[in-house]
Order: sequence, then structure tokens, then C-alpha cells
Amino acid sequence: MKFKPANKIQDLQYFGEFGGVNPSISDSSTYTFLSAKTMFDTFEGNADGCYLYSRHTSPSNLYLGEALAEMEGTETATVTASGMGAITPVLLQLCSAGDHVVSSRTIYGGTYAFLKNFTPKLNIQTTFVDITKLDVVEAAITENTKVLYCETVSNPLLEVADIEGLAALAKKYNLKLVVDNTFSPLSVSPAQLGADVVIHSLTKFINGSSDTVGGVICGTQEFIDNLRNVNDGACMLLGSTMDSLRASSVLKNLRTLHIRIQQHSKNAMYLAKKFEEDGLKTVYPGLASHPSHELFSSMLNEEYGFGGMLTIDVGSLDKANELMELMQHKNLGYLAVSLGFYKTLFSAPGTSTSSEIPEDEQAEMGLTDGLIRFSIGLDNDIERTYQMMTECMREVGILELVS
Ligand SMILES: *Cc1c(COP(=O)(O)O)cnc(C)c1O
Repeated sequence: MKFKPANKIQDLQYFGEFGGVNPSISDSSTYTFLSAKTMFDTFEGNADGCYLYSRHTSPSNLYLGEALAEMEGTETATVTASGMGAITPVLLQLCSAGDHVVSSRTIYGGTYAFLKNFTPKLNIQTTFVDITKLDVVEAAITENTKVLYCETVSNPLLEVADIEGLAALAKKYNLKLVVDNTFSPLSVSPAQLGADVVIHSLTKFINGSSDTVGGVICGTQEFIDNLRNVNDGACMLLGSTMDSLRASSVLKNLRTLHIRIQQHSKNAMYLAKKFEEDGLKTVYPGLASHPSHELFSSMLNEEYGFGGMLTIDVGSLDKANELMELMQHKNLGYLAVSLGFYKTLFSAPGTSTSSEIPEDEQAEMGLTDGLIRFSIGLDNDIERTYQMMTECMREVGILELVS
């Protein structure tokens, strides 16, 4: 039977302590115990259902984690204060000094910087590879490799990872496949395709209102328990904990995710097709011209579409900047990093979100100066948006064609 992530979220039922339709918010950092013995047992990890201290976990965070675990179809999940606050403890939990990571080279700039500049200080080395080539990935695996790391749809080049192929490699070499699914919530369910750990920056589509940062780690009960272990758990000890008030507000936004993703996808597909017809160099996984269109289609939970992210290449950074400023001036969206907002957001990744990647490496991976990354908004009238964007492109001399 096909996996239905939004149904799983809808089927959850919880009430507040006074019968409220939303769970009550646990506005406490610490919890009382009726007996000293129970406090001891809780520290030892032997008192299920008891709360200890809110860096460990809290009822509000557990509700949000449970909903996201349902969405990804994993045993459980734990929420964190940011996406990076999810990614870094996972890597530090899975790797010790001397260990090795094989990672996609097109990943979020912060993750790239962490693996490239930070973890070598702990003697954890990373080989960055073209994740779309399974033979290249396999060749990079050494006897010290512990983790295969990728994004389902990569930032910002929108390369698509073959999750099943990578999971088979992970199994063969006894590695953990860690997938950042931030760009494709609901559309792709990596754990169903064999990923061991699925991470999201909740900051983006899942929360969807650009009012907070947040993250989640979805995985087995054993792995999540390890992350929260009071003695050696990376989440517990590094302390990147989400606040309860925020967890409760993200949970409320999560309930409309399926409707939002459908609209983001519909609008992005419309614009991608039009841009391509107009002769713009357009990258969108929903286009037949995308090198991984077939692969993405085979992984897709169809009803949610190919997502809200697309890129165009307008030739130079100057043109890109001119166009973005004009589009913002015409109120077509904001010149801002991040994604998943109700308004369209655009930025030039080479000088912003991927600026951690050195220029020669950017060139090698095809990250050009004139690239604009769009997170397409929830616009009700996308035809009008397209017309207005086209006018901007003519005005700055990007579109010579008069269509
Ligand atoms: C934004 C982002 C992150 C980092 O998340 P924060 O919430 O900003 O810490 C990680 N991965 C991807 C793909 C992202 O887009």
C-alpha cells in the first residue's frame, strides 16, 4: 500500500488537559517527582512517561516529534532548536575520531562548512562526491566510513539522490544513510526508501511562516534514545533544544503542510514550464529536461508534486541582482534566503547560502554566478505572477523574446 504521510498526521489525536483541541503547552523547564526513587529511575532511563528536565524532552516537543515521526514513517523523532541543531548532533553521534563520512558535494552551506571545516578538528574526515553517481559514491567508501550523507533534493542545484540505491550501498558496507529531506517534505519519504535517519530544517516548508528556526531528527527508538542519553547523547549534551511554546506553534502549522506543498508545487511547476518555454535555463525536478526527473518521479508521493524550489540561470551576478531587486520592488517576492514562505523568496546562492563553498568548487559543481534560487510562494494567481515576472525580465534585458 502506498505511504500516505498526510493521513498519518491527520490520524493523530490529542487533547489538552482541559479538553482543548490543541495539546496544552508545557511551560516548565523542570518537573516534580512524587518519590525520590522515581527521580533516580528517570535519570537511569527506566521511568517511561516521566519528564525530567526540558533539555531532555518536554510534552510539547514530544507531540511535535511524534507527528513528524508519523509523517516520515519512523519509529520516533526528536525536535531541535534549528536544522543545524539536528544535523550536527546526528553526525557527532554516529562518528568518532578517526571516522569518515561520504557526503554529497551539493548540500546546504552550513552542513558543508561543518563537515569541511569543523569536524576535521575532531579528526572526522569527509569526502564530497557527486551523489548522483552511485559508482563514485561507492568508490569513496573506506574502511573508516560510518555515514553516507545527502539531501533528497539538493541545495541549491536541485540534484536528486537515489535513496534506494544509496540505502543498498549503506547496507552493503554497514553504514548509516542520513538524509536531509528539507526541500521535499511529504513529496518524498526517505525512510520508506531505506534511509536510516531523516532530518528536516523545520524552519522551511514544514513551519512555513518564516517566524522561527527549528529542526527534527526522525529515526529508530534506539537511535533517538541514544541522542537523548544523559551520559553521552549528542542532543542532550550539546543542548540545541526547541522551546515548548515554539514546538506547539510548529505543530499547528504542520497540519496545513499538505495543502501548502500542493500549492507550492503547482505554482513552481507552472512557472518552470513557462520559463523553460521562454528559453530560460531552468532547473526544476518536475520538468522532463531535469536529469533526474524519472528518478524523482519514481520516489514521489504523487499528490504533493515536485516541490516549490526552482532555479534559473540569467548569465551573470549583475543581471541576477538587478532582476531580484526589481522583482522585490514590484512586490513579487522578497530578496531573502530561506524557503517555504507564503511569498516567493529569491537569492543568488553563489554569494549567499552557498558562499561557504569556495569559488573553484562552486564552478566544478555547476553553481554559476547568474543562478537564482526561487522558493515559489503560495500565490493564488500564478498566471499574473508569471506575467509580472516576465515584464521584469524584459526590463532588465534577460528576456529578448517577446512571447
Ligand atoms: C536551512 C537548511 C538547513 C539548516 O537549517 P536551520 O534551521 O537554518 O538551522 C539544513 N539543510 C537544508 C537543506 C536547509 O535548507
